[in-house]
Amino acid sequence: FIYLLGFFGIDFVQSLVLRPSADVWATEDDEVESEVLLRNEDARHVPCGQALDRSIRSLQPPAPIVTAEKVFDEMPVTVMTEEDEEIIRSVVRGMTPSYSLESKLGDCKRAAAIRREALQRITGKSLSGLPLDGFDYESILGQCCEMPVGYVQIPVGIAGPLLLNGREYSVPMATTEGCLVASTNRGCKAIHLSGGATSVLLRDGMTRAPVVRFGTAKRAADLKLYLEDPENFETLACVFNRSSRFARLQSIKCAIAGKNLYLRFSCFTGDAMGMNMVSKGVQNVLDFLQTDFPDMDVIGISGNFCSDKKPAAVNWIEGRGKSVVCEAIINGDVVTKVLKTSVESLVELNMLKNLTGSAMAGALGGFNAHASNIVTAVYIATGQDPAQNVESSHCITMMEAVNGGKDLHVSVTMPSIEVGTVGGGTQLASQSACLNLLGVKGASKESPGANSILLATIVAGAVLAGELSLMSALAAGQLVKSHMKYNRSSKDVSKVSS
Ligand code: ADP
Repeated sequence: FIYLLGFFGIDFVQSLVLRPSADVWATEDDEVESEVLLRNEDARHVPCGQALDRSIRSLQPPAPIVTAEKVFDEMPVTVMTEEDEEIIRSVVRGMTPSYSLESKLGDCKRAAAIRREALQRITGKSLSGLPLDGFDYESILGQCCEMPVGYVQIPVGIAGPLLLNGREYSVPMATTEGCLVASTNRGCKAIHLSGGATSVLLRDGMTRAPVVRFGTAKRAADLKLYLEDPENFETLACVFNRSSRFARLQSIKCAIAGKNLYLRFSCFTGDAMGMNMVSKGVQNVLDFLQTDFPDMDVIGISGNFCSDKKPAAVNWIEGRGKSVVCEAIINGDVVTKVLKTSVESLVELNMLKNLTGSAMAGALGGFNAHASNIVTAVYIATGQDPAQNVESSHCITMMEAVNGGKDLHVSVTMPSIEVGTVGGGTQLASQSACLNLLGVKGASKESPGANSILLATIVAGAVLAGELSLMSALAAGQLVKSHMKYNRSSKDVSKVSS
């Protein structure tokens, strides 16, 4: 904790916490588990179950009771009925598969409560502290999470207003990392006082790359040439675009490894992050190709040349999702008064840390201070897939002295921001509220894709703010200073953690 405080610059955090500032803003893989796998998972803990004994349902009327076999002293999370108790015992004995509770009971909340109680009895471990109530379990059924037993609470803080392209945004960040929101907030303040940031979308296309195998490298090359021939593109696009009224095939980039061919399809996906949409389109094209290339063996719809949720140069160079550049000119006075450092120190640190240091480390897309901190916090708050922070956090931060060395030009270039405002976790109540705060909830009626593009530019803007603030804290030597100060703290950390 002390390290974090220092890392983000404790001095300004204290000033934010201890005294309200009057000048604030005075002048914003992916693959689905199979049922077989679930069954195997179950089998590891309890005997694999039979179908639910239907006679259990006939126990009438369900009388509220407190569970007889509770393992812990805490109050049960919910009042169980005798029928519930029967089902819990059946799950514990392995007669009823845990995963089947929702479909058998037709009540998602009850299914979660029963699964939870059964889990506590099976494991002998308490789930006290993990809430069950206050969540709409119907809303996640079949799309967001299987076999729920509760939900993890993550606080949401607000950084901003972020002044971006002439509009203000309050940026929601879900995190448990102390100082992260405060630090990003300070960066937003510096940007605001300097007239705001500008961001530009450079490209917008989600990718999926199946791997197919032939008998010879010659045949694999034949398909590569066919797919890359501009004369065939229209036909292939027509077949691909049948997957959705929003899908628009943009390109197919191929790579060969011997007689194996990797086909990287890139596609516009409207306001959806697009993995489902692009996968359906790819399947359509593969089915179509099978007629002319009957010797083509489809090994996998994803061959990792996509590349989803893994560090890969292809995303860094070609981009994936939205490629965005965001810039601002920070006034020299603001650098001194708000960021507590100098333009010269920031430029030097950026060169030696984000550029040279990352090169020395052999970084892949990691030419930044902490882009992934901001990306992940905004992703969790707005219902994005947080695992995609891997490539979404690819970012090069540039800093340069301008206006005769007086002011700072700062930019972040992020080639692979993968966001959507429809589908996945975006429709859940909390995440949807955060999207609403940014004015990008759901599908854009006027122009499909406009909401997800705006969200991507906001992510880049928030990263710009985060980079500015952390780099300033480092340049000002606050890391060392606060370590010196807080290492002398008399607080007994072991007591705090216990
Ligand atoms: P993903 O492809 O990101 O996994 P989903 O398939 O879960 O997304 O969600 C996209 C769904 O939302 C599609 O069925 C699509 O038809 C629908 N949809 C509605 N409006 C839009 C829009 N503006 N852009 C993209 N998809 C939209």
